[in-house]
Amino acid sequence: MKFMDSRENSNTKIKLLGIPFDSTSSFRAGSRFAPDEIRKFSYNLESYSPILKRNLYDVDFFDMGNLDLPFGNTNKSVNIITDFTRHILDDKSIPVAIGGEHLITFGIFKTIYERYPDVKIIQFDAHADLRDDYIGEKLSHATVMRRCSDLCGLNNIIQIGVRSGTEKEWEIMNDTVLIKSKNDFENYLRNILSPVYITIDLDILDPSIFPGTGTPEAGGFSYNELMDYIYLLENKNIVGLDIVEFSPPYDHSGISASTASKIIREILLIL
Ligand code: MN
Ligand code: MN
Repeated sequence: MKFMDSRENSNTKIKLLGIPFDSTSSFRAGSRFAPDEIRKFSYNLESYSPILKRNLYDVDFFDMGNLDLPFGNTNKSVNIITDFTRHILDDKSIPVAIGGEHLITFGIFKTIYERYPDVKIIQFDAHADLRDDYIGEKLSHATVMRRCSDLCGLNNIIQIGVRSGTEKEWEIMNDTVLIKSKNDFENYLRNILSPVYITIDLDILDPSIFPGTGTPEAGGFSYNELMDYIYLLENKNIVGLDIVEFSPPYDHSGISASTASKIIREILLIL
């Protein structure tokens, strides 16, 4: 099954890709099932967005299906993700990845950074993800932004929605760009000419509207609040994007799946 209105051939500007990897999930795994669940729920949506006044039918995107990954082998999985992203960029396409857990971002970002050394990452997340290691592991959903910062520097990481982190992480966040309001974000974006990579950890949303996630954190955004930020990214130089941490086993009513697929529809319409 493909995301609704995917083109039949791969000769497209946007490549949608499922990355069903959740091996380092610390609390509750299950995000490996997200790409297929999101595809299924996409058929419950209209292809027309009344806010953007555009139709997904007119968007040049192709759903490539899911990557085959060796579960339990984190290093190898990250390398496969990195190599596959290189193929997508070689095709002059924009990767839009559906995780999986947050570590997949590092796999994608390694290739993005190699191509665009002046890239900035915009991270939507309840969590800082800036630990240097997590229970001794350097590669984890809890360290992913730190690993990205090893490449691009903390000052090129823009964080939105963070409301959980260790004392040490909050200290490190003095060196990232912390966005506190929509106004802040608008001002920040006004001065940005460099390419941007976007990572959306769906636990930025409040657990009351998005229960289907591995590490729920109270005090989050509503759907409309999140989209207010995302719509500001239209016409920016977006070179890649991922949507991670939806975990279907905790989504008993399907509200998280329908929310995630609607967010993806809107994003495909602004790329
Ligand atoms: Mn998170
Ligand atoms: Mn995260």
